[in-house]
Amino acid sequence: MTSELEDAQKNLKNALEKIGEEDYYEQLKEPERFVEVNIPVEMDDGGTEIFKAYRSQHNMARGPGKGGIRFSTRVNEDEVKALSLWMSLKCAIADIPYGGAKGGVEVDPSKLSESEEERLSRNYIDSIAEIIGENRDVPAPDMNTGAKHMAWMMDEYSEDERELIPGVITGKPVEAFGSKGRADATGFGAVYIIEQIIKDEGLEAEELTAAVQGFGNAAAPAVKKLKEIGVKVVAVSDASGAVYDSEGLSYSQLLECKSERGEICMIGEEISNAELLELDVDFLIPGAIEGVITEENAESVSADYIVEIANGPTTGEADDILRERDVTVIPDVLTNSGGVTVSYYEWVQNRSGEYWSEEKVLKKLRENIQGAYRQFRDLRDSEGLYGRDAAYMIGAEKIVQTIKARNY
Ligand code: GLU
Repeated sequence: MTSELEDAQKNLKNALEKIGEEDYYEQLKEPERFVEVNIPVEMDDGGTEIFKAYRSQHNMARGPGKGGIRFSTRVNEDEVKALSLWMSLKCAIADIPYGGAKGGVEVDPSKLSESEEERLSRNYIDSIAEIIGENRDVPAPDMNTGAKHMAWMMDEYSEDERELIPGVITGKPVEAFGSKGRADATGFGAVYIIEQIIKDEGLEAEELTAAVQGFGNAAAPAVKKLKEIGVKVVAVSDASGAVYDSEGLSYSQLLECKSERGEICMIGEEISNAELLELDVDFLIPGAIEGVITEENAESVSADYIVEIANGPTTGEADDILRERDVTVIPDVLTNSGGVTVSYYEWVQNRSGEYWSEEKVLKKLRENIQGAYRQFRDLRDSEGLYGRDAAYMIGAEKIVQTIKARNY
């Protein structure tokens, strides 16, 4: 199996060739800057543990670096580099003025106490403080990190700088300079794209079904929004298992269980995660981790659309199969760009000191992401392209144009 970085590089090379800009491949295949740090953290038992962590700044021609920080045992150099390359493309596709970056700490956060997590968050920010800043690189949440981590990190950075700098990080709690609407933005953004598809195809939302893999920060709000627009969510999963009901699952029941017990309840028929991916639904929405649609199951995917909320849920080998089978893929770099788009709105609010209503944030997000989708759809359809290729071409084109204009 190829790595995420190899897949991302292959797709980038292909896109640059298609737009006649292959000369830029050398500049864009690796990050501009990649930092590895080893962070000592004092544990509750008095001992010290060292955590390996990274920050990758892929390309900052279009603006400060932007991208989340993940806490996961799977974090490694190649993964963080790939994720930062995807962020460059994502910000360009969403047309927001940022380059791409990403960070990660190799850790199992479920093994840490709240105070250990706080010390790790603060020490991580200290260790990369020299290369971040509101005009340099602006981190945000990602897998296993959320608003509380961002608040600690913003606080740590501001303390060191001896002034309040809320714009150094986004995804903060609303009570601590965050933006209304940020928590729902990734999931809602994906469903705004689905709304546009329904409109384009002249479909009836009430007749459509979706299967959602995941019920975390990104996927749960998507489930909520799908129900709101009338699409039936027939299956949902999390790390504990998957549940199915052909009549549709209740979002509020799923949420109640998840917040009480930390996992979804079997409020319908219990199925396996593998079965969820093969359900005959209109929309299959991988919304959790990387590499779930693989060469083993890509032949069996029966959904009409794969709407990728997670980053990198489809492997390179699976992509080849889906491309061959003519499956419509709405790729991650477009689908999940709602998160970083509202991060941008948060940064604008932090810098202007004027805070917006949730209604305003979500309205702007909806217009922006549906506009990005239409641009993608038009290129894909006019040139008969596979979804991922069209998205990469749009992102790569914008990055290259800025590099040229600045002579970066
Ligand atoms: N981690 C999210 C992503 O992969 C959000 C990044 C951000 O808000 O900067 O897009």
